[in-house]
Amino acid sequence: MNTQKNGRTGRCLCGEVTFALTEDIDEVGVCHCEMCRRWAGAPWFAIHCKKPVSFDGEQHIVRFQSSDWAERGFCGNCGTNLFYRLLASGEYILSPFTLDDQSELSFTGQIFIDEKPEWYAFANETPTMTGAEVFAMYAPKEEG
Ligand SMILES: [Zn+2]
Ligand SMILES: [Zn+2]
Repeated sequence: MNTQKNGRTGRCLCGEVTFALTEDIDEVGVCHCEMCRRWAGAPWFAIHCKKPVSFDGEQHIVRFQSSDWAERGFCGNCGTNLFYRLLASGEYILSPFTLDDQSELSFTGQIFIDEKPEWYAFANETPTMTGAEVFAMYAPKEEG
């Protein structure tokens, strides 16, 4: 994955919200947790941005604080789920499906596998983590 995709761009369905990444990201993970599935209407596929993301159309973004440590954003005009954002670090976790160019992405992990319903499973072979493992990994950094 040496291809430079620095500056991938994306948008919501209606196009009122657009964004640009400021780093090269090709890894996509998925979260099977109950909250993500209820929010996204599906498991939440996500790309974790460590560097800032620049948004255009911020006035259309509706933010909902879903826990003590995170908020979720969607377009108030068309309803596209845009991001999960960690409040402590400010990091955005965006949907890869909002990217304009989804080439050269790879599916690299599944979290909250213990909350995944029995009735579906992805054929991709990826590492998995339980919710407890995720909290153990992030708790020291994100301060819970
Ligand atoms: Zn929209
Ligand atoms: Zn989740």
